Amino acid sequence: MKAQPQASHYINGSFVDDERGKPIPVIYPATGEIVATLHSATENIVELAVEAAREAQPAWARLKPVERGRVLRRAADILRARNDELARIETLDTGKAIQETLVADPASAADALEFFGGAVASFNGDYVDFGGSFAYTRREPLGVCVGIGAWNYPIQGAGWKSAPALAMGNAMVFKPSENTPLSALALAEIYAEAGLPAGLFNVVQGYGDVGHALASHPVVAKVSLTGSVPTGRKVLGLAGSLMKHATMELGGKSPLIIFDDADIENAVGGAMLANFYSTGQVCSNGTRVFVQEGLHDRFVDRLTERTKAIRIGDPLDPDTQMGPLINKAQHEKVLSYITIGKEEGATLHYGGAVPSLQGFEGGFFVEPTIFTDVSDGMRIAREEIFGPVMSVLRFASEDEVVTRANDTEYGLSAGVFTRDLPRAHRVIAELQAGSCWINNYNLAPVEIPFGGYKQSGIGRENSLAALDHYSQLKSVYVETGDVASPY
Ligand code: NAD
Repeated sequence: MKAQPQASHYINGSFVDDERGKPIPVIYPATGEIVATLHSATENIVELAVEAAREAQPAWARLKPVERGRVLRRAADILRARNDELARIETLDTGKAIQETLVADPASAADALEFFGGAVASFNGDYVDFGGSFAYTRREPLGVCVGIGAWNYPIQGAGWKSAPALAMGNAMVFKPSENTPLSALALAEIYAEAGLPAGLFNVVQGYGDVGHALASHPVVAKVSLTGSVPTGRKVLGLAGSLMKHATMELGGKSPLIIFDDADIENAVGGAMLANFYSTGQVCSNGTRVFVQEGLHDRFVDRLTERTKAIRIGDPLDPDTQMGPLINKAQHEKVLSYITIGKEEGATLHYGGAVPSLQGFEGGFFVEPTIFTDVSDGMRIAREEIFGPVMSVLRFASEDEVVTRANDTEYGLSAGVFTRDLPRAHRVIAELQAGSCWINNYNLAPVEIPFGGYKQSGIGRENSLAALDHYSQLKSVYVETGDVASPY
């Protein structure tokens, strides 16, 4: 299986390479096979990309928003037309089941391009009346923005960052995760085909040091990172010290609260989506599943039945529901947390093993895993595992569960299942989390803001809020009378 792109980077409208850069092997997580080899950016490559973005940005910013939007909307159409081919690239890069990537990944990027391509034309400043004299505000682009992606949703991340940045009149240099470098290159080609002028969307590959070089570059006005909390602390600290704008989309350990009166099938389905989709590698996953005492045992029984039926295996088989984890390190990390959970005294209720799959012996598979009898202090209930490992915790009362749900440094997401809607709204209002769901989980339509409270991040992606974060506000006072000068 091969997925070698034309070259490692895409700068100023062309594929370029510099083979002096450290190799980046692209490993298909289902087999461990190397499907492509790219190179991490050298200093020269970083410089070329930032310079191309700086050169191209002013003319792009001078276009009417509706003209910029038209290019993005054309690119959205091309993304949709190439959906199946892009889904395959995404599956080779991430190992996620093709039945997911066919519906979720390029489609979500296309939604972002379409939404921001349309919304930007009505994202304007304000008019302030002073009874004669007046003021107005202008939304202006920041200039050159850097996007740094995680590996779980590569093309979605590239789309979620580049669409609001470009719509607003910025240029972007995007660095995908070193684990998943392929689909951002395909997006760059699609933008070019849609008519995006050269230099506005550049892709530079690399490890953390390349992310650091981009984020600290003097020409760069903003950095938007999706990644872990430790990386976020470093990048936000760097951006702060250089007075750059920053958006941080980081990790979580989100609570999903299921009350006795919930519809059990929907609650079980929601908990499975909140833990097993993308093999559990979703930042907003509801990995602490709090179930009220009266429903707990029935919930666990039904959850187990449905989890047993998950089809795990070849990610390119359309019937497969769960693929492998991203790489060996993540595989070891997830298995080590399963050992920790057992040692801490939680009950390994289901899963926890490496399945034996013929032809996929080199892959990074782990069974969907359910721990019960989990208590709040256990590491499996406190730390982000980023794999298909669900912790089920019992609770008695509403006040108790709200306190326990909020007892975490994270604050990305939260969910509530109940038929009592006043209670649902009351509980959601008390939860310290940025992206919440009532009677569903993990939906992230582009129309609503996405992002975290507390250590889970700063700023928002999606919705008009993202245009805010890719622009700066100029206020202009206009005098219509004489200047009242005391001098
Ligand atoms: P990571 O923090 O290891 O890496 C993220 C990106 O940062 C990569 O591109 C990496 O090369 C780069 N990087 C690493 N060190 C850097 C540095 N010093 N300066 C600049 N860039 C640097 O995260 P990951 O393992 O790729 O992704 C998993 C994490 O991302 C999880 O914690 C997950 O919860 C989080 N995540 C959050 C969201 C969200 O929207 N909130 C979405 C997806 C993933």
